[in-house]
Amino acid sequence: MAVPKKKTSKSRRDMRRAHHAIKPANVTECPNCGEPRRPHHVCGSCGYYDGREVAARKRKSA
Ligand SMILES: [Zn+2]
Repeated sequence: MAVPKKKTSKSRRDMRRAHHAIKPANVTECPNCGEPRRPHHVCGSCGYYDGREVAARKRKSA
């Protein structure tokens, strides 16, 4: 098993973790119904993707 030769200092450890923050999910407006939708994902409220309905609608009735 590979073992580190030197202890990672608090500074090095914290510098590594400086990139670990979670960024908010990217959200765009659905071109069909206007609801917020993540890019490259089927719309959760109208079930549309790429201009056509590809999934049954859930929530709301329209
Ligand atoms: Zn939609």
